Amino acid sequence: MTDLDRRADRELVPSGWDYAPAPESREVVRLEPRYGHWIGGEWVEATEVYETVSPASEEPLAEVGLGTAADVESAVAAARAAFDGEWSRLPGSERAKYLFRIARILQERSRELAVLESLDGGKPIKESRDVDLPLAAAHFFYYAGWADKLEYAFPNRRPRPVGVAGQIIPWNFPLLMLAWKVAPALACGNTVVLKPAETTPLTALLFCDVLRQAELPAGVVNIVTGDGATGAALIDAGVDKIAFTGSTEVGKAIQRRLAGTGTKLTLELGGKAANVVFDDAPLDQAVEGIVNGIYFNQGHVCCAGSRLFVQESVYEDVLRKLKRRMGTLRVGDPLDKNTDVGAINSRAQLEKIEELVASGRDEGAEIYQAPCRLPERGYWFAPTVFTNVAQSYRIAQEEIFGPVLSVLTFRTPEEAIEKANNTPYGLSAGVWTEKGSRILWMAQRLRAGVIWANTYNRFDPASPFGGYRESGFGREGGRHGLEPYLDLGGAE
Ligand code: NDP
Repeated sequence: MTDLDRRADRELVPSGWDYAPAPESREVVRLEPRYGHWIGGEWVEATEVYETVSPASEEPLAEVGLGTAADVESAVAAARAAFDGEWSRLPGSERAKYLFRIARILQERSRELAVLESLDGGKPIKESRDVDLPLAAAHFFYYAGWADKLEYAFPNRRPRPVGVAGQIIPWNFPLLMLAWKVAPALACGNTVVLKPAETTPLTALLFCDVLRQAELPAGVVNIVTGDGATGAALIDAGVDKIAFTGSTEVGKAIQRRLAGTGTKLTLELGGKAANVVFDDAPLDQAVEGIVNGIYFNQGHVCCAGSRLFVQESVYEDVLRKLKRRMGTLRVGDPLDKNTDVGAINSRAQLEKIEELVASGRDEGAEIYQAPCRLPERGYWFAPTVFTNVAQSYRIAQEEIFGPVLSVLTFRTPEEAIEKANNTPYGLSAGVWTEKGSRILWMAQRLRAGVIWANTYNRFDPASPFGGYRESGFGREGGRHGLEPYLDLGGAE
């Protein structure tokens, strides 16, 4: 019997411990009052600006450029000039040196970048420090290794860069998504115009200083901040490749827009992943995986395990353990090193979560929320579980992109597969069981691009990531992640 089991009957309290505040210092970050766009290796004054705020306090942080179509055009022109100039002709080993340099600088400045990421986006410092930053640096290290080995990655082909890549990223992992996109593009010899999400531009802007330090040639990476209209202008700017991560709706609009233009396209869109727990699974570990699957990064994760399927025979046990574990989650100041669940990224996202949660109640699901005190200012949502959920409910069908879990049950593996695949998405899934053969049986039948076994939300630059159906197409990470940035020519 585990210690948690022995304490099973005790009353639920938010935490058995009083944690003294352990705030990470903001002093390591120096914010400019106003930022322009990074074009052609220098700052270009923005003609229009907006304010980016801290979602944990609603405090304005800085004014940021609202990129116009003209800004996007000059960024694409700078990228084109850099591509036609020296960059695309540099030997791979030379390009690799820049990528290694960027990776090392990200490591050296990781504390500054992690604090800024948490400040601007609301995610706990524990996560930006231990997940986002190490993985961002690891992506640059990993793709630096490929830069001079492209002929070996694609034998009997003639790998050539495609040209200028337009990259549009979301707000849930701002710097990490930048790394996923910029590192393979540069490794393959392309140049880049990147548009960060409206609510989280600051780490991308600090990354420009990393590029300056790394002495990356002017115009190889250009960053234009702004909103959806800025992103739309980049789609129309005549680049050679578009890489987009974000909502399925915008992804579909981009696909329609680019149809017939010959522009290469990869889309990494939404998800509604099934996390399936069998009765032979190690339940305490599974509960950790469930919590990590849905409450990591406030559930702002495209591959979040937002639909939990529990085998009926262990349903009561799993739910009891889950609720007990939820009682120990600390929700609050993202810069506090004890915080497990930070702020919701924006007011708009909070309203979306609230609307979907209300629909869950209205449709008849039963709600449980972790006992926690939410700060008065800022955007917050308590970790939430819905039980008594029918597959047809919106909370079981739509991507909530918040800390909200829907729990369903199954009896047989066949039923688990049928229910897990009952979604228009196909990004990720999780399986918890002690039997290796069952893991393989499930993996062959689950319709998802990524499947985790007895773990969840594990990422590695060497491992390809991506989905199909409404979750998009194309892979990021691994050798597969090079392909979208290469013209492979014909076989020799
Ligand atoms: P979007 O898809 O709108 O945003 C993703 C990126 O695309 C942002 O940089 C955005 O800019 C930009 N963008 C918006 N409209 C266009 C356009 N017409 N053409 C080109 N680029 C555009 O996601 P939201 O931030 O609006 O979030 C909405 C929902 O999408 C969330 O609630 C969540 O469910 C889902 N989502 C899924 C993600 C995933 O990884 N699967 C990531 C983010 C969101 P801007 O930020 O300025 O609007």
